[in-house]
Amino acid sequence: MTNRITLAHGSGGRMTQQLIRQVFGRRFSNPMLDRMNDAAVGEVAAGARLAFSIDGHVVSPLFFPGGSIGDIAVYGTVNDLAMMGARPLWLAASFVIEEGLPMLDLRRIADDMAAAAERAGVWLVAGDTKVVEQGKGDGVYISVAGVGAVPPHLHIDAANARPGDVILINGPIAAHGMTIMTLREGLSFESDLQSDAAPLNGIVAEMLAAAPHTRAMRDATRGGLATALNELAQAAGAGMVFAQEAVPVDAAARAACELLGLDPLYVANEGAFIAITPPGEADAALAALRSHPLGRDATIIGRVTEAHPGQVVMETALGAQRIVATLSGDLLPRIC
Ligand code: MG
Repeated sequence: MTNRITLAHGSGGRMTQQLIRQVFGRRFSNPMLDRMNDAAVGEVAAGARLAFSIDGHVVSPLFFPGGSIGDIAVYGTVNDLAMMGARPLWLAASFVIEEGLPMLDLRRIADDMAAAAERAGVWLVAGDTKVVEQGKGDGVYISVAGVGAVPPHLHIDAANARPGDVILINGPIAAHGMTIMTLREGLSFESDLQSDAAPLNGIVAEMLAAAPHTRAMRDATRGGLATALNELAQAAGAGMVFAQEAVPVDAAARAACELLGLDPLYVANEGAFIAITPPGEADAALAALRSHPLGRDATIIGRVTEAHPGQVVMETALGAQRIVATLSGDLLPRIC
């Protein structure tokens, strides 16, 4: 561990995991936190479970094709709750605003948050604003906490995947990260590139109705699909094998990745998630995903295996197998 915080500690990859484990995990260890899910789930009364999560947003720029910091601040928390099978209910937002931010920008962000909350079917029920001196922030930072109700029949946990299970994805990857990256680098070669920012609770609810024994889900945000798969593999102590050809990649994002020499598997998403279902429910889950607008390109990408416990293996088109590690270093800071 280094003596000072580096930007790689914010990557969502290996350094972030180390930071969480070594600084926070050991100090706050408890049965809910230690599950290391997208949201903590606990029982508040007999049979009544709540999911609870929080997500901070520091994206730069504040506005980008396909969304804004306001959209992803709402969707980030909604999606983390949805990944536990919860029906998101209430959000609370904290705004750290920099002196000098145009009031018009803040109104636009609030408009986006209100529209996003409406689309996701949640209420923003509490909030806080703080203002810091010019130069001490970067426009605005937004943190959003949220709670959701977990239906009693669901048992979703990162550790639940077992050999033979099927790995599904709802749609193409890499659009959000490449949108931010091309904007920041001043590249405009892909005019139809836009963030995939979207609320996943609707599509997840439909999938869970069709596949109620779904084992685990994770949204592939910072660190990308590769990191999300590694987190689930490590939590379950099982292997994850996927076919490179099977992974849908946004066409414009793929072109941008090729130009910049980046691997789309590590690029951040704001509307892509993986689900792991028992083999007997995979077809029903896939059909449910495909019948939703956010899952038109849903597909099965691989399987959970006994081999390679805790690791992710990619099968290439030529039949070779390659270990796909958690993101190391940082592709681009301030992506979400
Ligand atoms: Mg997540």
